[in-house]
This record gives sequence, structure tokens and C-alpha cells, in this order.
Amino acid sequence: MAFSGLIKGRTDWRDKSEIQGELGQRRTENLADRVSELEERVDHLSLLSMALWQLVSESTGWSEEELIKRVSALDLRDGKMDGRVLGSVIECPECHRPLSRRHRRCLYCEHEMSVEGSAFDEVVR
Ligand SMILES: [Zn+2]
Repeated sequence: MAFSGLIKGRTDWRDKSEIQGELGQRRTENLADRVSELEERVDHLSLLSMALWQLVSESTGWSEEELIKRVSALDLRDGKMDGRVLGSVIECPECHRPLSRRHRRCLYCEHEMSVEGSAFDEVVR
């Protein structure tokens, strides 16, 4: 009796493990689909950026060197040359603890971050 209970318990454990494995596989497939979708969107945005740059360059005469200088200047606005628009972590102006740029409100003191009012606020985080 105790032995069959042990086997049953072990079978249940395997079933749960199999279910967790299937769920994990499904999550992985969903993430792979999402990454693929994001790659397509990045490719499309890259094409749009390149087309816009060619139009701007042709109509203004601006060189690619000027574009690269501007990219570097924007990159350095947060004090770091890291290929990102802004650092991902800032300091809360109220409690001075680290705060992710993705959050509009401080997790520690609930200070509401002011809206900067840039057209890029929703995409630059
Ligand atoms: Zn705070």
C-alpha cells in the first residue's frame, strides 16, 4: 500500500513535470514568435529611417559625417557613449534612489515623474 502510494506520488510528480515542460515549450515558442515579429518591425523601421535619411541628405546636402556626429551628440546626452538614447536607470529627484526610465512613478516614494513633453517620450525609455 505504501509502495503503490509512493509510485502514484512519483507518477503525479512526472505528470506535473511534463505539464510544466509543455508550458515552458509553449512560452518559448511564443517568445520566439514575438522576437521574430520585433525583428520584422526593426527591419521595417530601418528601411524607413534609411529612406528618410536619403531624402533629407539629397534635399539639404547634409553629409553622413554630420549625421554620425549628431547621433554621437544624442548618445552622449546622458553622459555615456553606449549606443542608447538615455541610460536605463536614473535617480529619483525626491528620494535619490535608482529608478528605471520605464517607470513613470518611483517604486520607493511614489514620486510622479514629470512628463518631458518630447514627441519621443513614448518610444525613448
Ligand atoms: Zn523616489
